[in-house]
Amino acid sequence: MKEIQVIAFDADDTLWSNEPFFQETEKKFCDMLEDYLPHHTISRELLEIEIQNLALYGYGIKSMILSMIETAIRISDKTIGVDAIEKIINIGKEMLDKPIELLEGVEDVLKALHGKYRLVMATKGDLLDQEKKLVKSGLAKYFHHTEIVSEKKEAEYTKLIKHLDIPAHQFLMIGNSLKSDILPVLNVGGHAFHVPFHTTWAYEKIEHTIEHPHFRQLTHIKEALQYLLP
Ligand SMILES: [Mg+2]
Repeated sequence: MKEIQVIAFDADDTLWSNEPFFQETEKKFCDMLEDYLPHHTISRELLEIEIQNLALYGYGIKSMILSMIETAIRISDKTIGVDAIEKIINIGKEMLDKPIELLEGVEDVLKALHGKYRLVMATKGDLLDQEKKLVKSGLAKYFHHTEIVSEKKEAEYTKLIKHLDIPAHQFLMIGNSLKSDILPVLNVGGHAFHVPFHTTWAYEKIEHTIEHPHFRQLTHIKEALQYLLP
């Protein structure tokens, strides 16, 4: 751990709560359409359309709104009314307006590490929404750099590490997604701490046991300090 110079934090479900809002919205959407199909079938259709649309729209709330509209059109066999479309747009807008709920311990950890390491926020999703969330969170002052990308795969981490002007083994990523925050970082030679969140989007879920000298499984973000502030 001595070699680490830069610590990057994932944002959604690592610094603040995110996935529960998406699930809440999905539930409202399924309630709206329950005359057509049962909830689990609507959820499955929505997930399929969201995944198909990822390459076109990327991640985030705006993409989810478009995918919900497309799902509603498909499920209703093109009979969905304008009122329902308007309601979908409105539940999406409500999501964009949600206050930020910082996760417990996050600010203490950032405060403790600030000044001792270069801290970075590295998140994917919608640029404008993520920028607004960072401002609302009050955490911007802790970060030396923020990186908002459309995907978090090996290529993006390699680019970020190059931009930070450090060798990969001096980079540590802390996040809740094994798929986006942990595996690609280990694959490019960085360190990774996994902090699980109580719920994960179906698309981010993977079955994986990681055994790697650069990997630490935490149960809470505060445990990071015992490795980083010996
Ligand atoms: Mg996350």
